[in-house]
Amino acid sequence: MNRILVIAEHDGKKLNPATAKAVSCALAIGGEIDIAVFAADAAAVAGSAAKLKGVKRVLNIERAENAHQLAAALAPQIAKLAKDYTHLLAPSTTFGKDVLPRAAALLGVQQVSDIMKVVDAHTFERPMYAGNAIVTVKAPAMPCIVATVRTASWQACSEDGHAEITAAGTDAAIPQHTRFVELKADVSGRPDLQSAARVVSGGRGVGSKENFAVIYKFADKLGAAVGASRAAVDAGFVPNDLQVGQTGKIIAPELYVAVGISGAIQHLTGIKDARTIVAINKDPDAPIFQVADIGLVGDLFQILPELEQELDKL
Ligand SMILES: Cc1cc2nc3c(=O)[nH]c(=O)nc-3n(C[C@H](O)[C@H](O)[C@H](O)COP(=O)(O)OP(=O)(O)OC[C@H]3O[C@@H](n4cnc5c(N)ncnc54)[C@H](O)[C@@H]3O)c2cc1C
Repeated sequence: MNRILVIAEHDGKKLNPATAKAVSCALAIGGEIDIAVFAADAAAVAGSAAKLKGVKRVLNIERAENAHQLAAALAPQIAKLAKDYTHLLAPSTTFGKDVLPRAAALLGVQQVSDIMKVVDAHTFERPMYAGNAIVTVKAPAMPCIVATVRTASWQACSEDGHAEITAAGTDAAIPQHTRFVELKADVSGRPDLQSAARVVSGGRGVGSKENFAVIYKFADKLGAAVGASRAAVDAGFVPNDLQVGQTGKIIAPELYVAVGISGAIQHLTGIKDARTIVAINKDPDAPIFQVADIGLVGDLFQILPELEQELDKL
């Protein structure tokens, strides 16, 4: 029987919704599912993890070194836990992409990245060439299959479970070469880009860091998260963690509004699974219009205020 361990992603207080998507992938693989919560105090997160559908046990691995979710600290502990499991899964987020390859290296296996679909317990579909091709990969069963789950391809599982919560631990030695110094996090109060239902992204066409205020204002009107193209990030208009695309975040919002973004293939890779795409661009031949459900041709500095006025009327 498959025994699957899903690594919980959290901030010490709340379980990240990406974990429920990784559990959906585990359900598709089939077997007994456990979730590992690495924390200094796991109680709050474990309570949420225990409600995820189909989860048998939540393992609380509490120790002081787990307070800040450092990949270097978690990976040796995950590798030790892996001996009891056929599969190790984590969401393909910044967290999962950081921690799981390290665990795979310690186990001496190649990681399967970005599972979009489960064919069988050892065979998976994943995107390649910026999402332009889907490859079917078969992973050897021994010693353990280590895989990240493409969150845009999976719905969160339901929360009607009643898993047992149990303390667990490992005797893994934690390397001392990496230590937590400081966390600088966005305190905007806007929705999280990776899990938001609505996202407004700005591109090079926005023109400057100061001009990005129009994107933030419009996003706030919609209750949306803010994203950006790589050109906007590289130009210093916004921080790097707002980048959407092949080398940024892969997202699947209900609504994606691309403002002053041309629609390069590397950007489109990040929004393939968005439900409705609205594009605002002054160039009628911009490639973004080929994928947009709704296209508005014109100057963004004129169109956004007009849209805001219309939203105010609702
Ligand atoms: C290996 C690799 C990885 C990459 N990864 C990513 C990635 O993860 N994400 C990503 O986004 N890109 C990525 N890129 C870069 C990508 O190829 C493009 O260069 C980038 O997406 C372009 O960003 P942009 O659309 O904002 O800029 P541009 O292509 O310069 O487009 C700007 C658009 O704004 C429009 N515009 C200008 N002024 C206005 C106005 N006033 N009103 C309305 N419209 C206006 C223009 O008509 C134009 O279409 C990657 C590239 C490589 C090689």
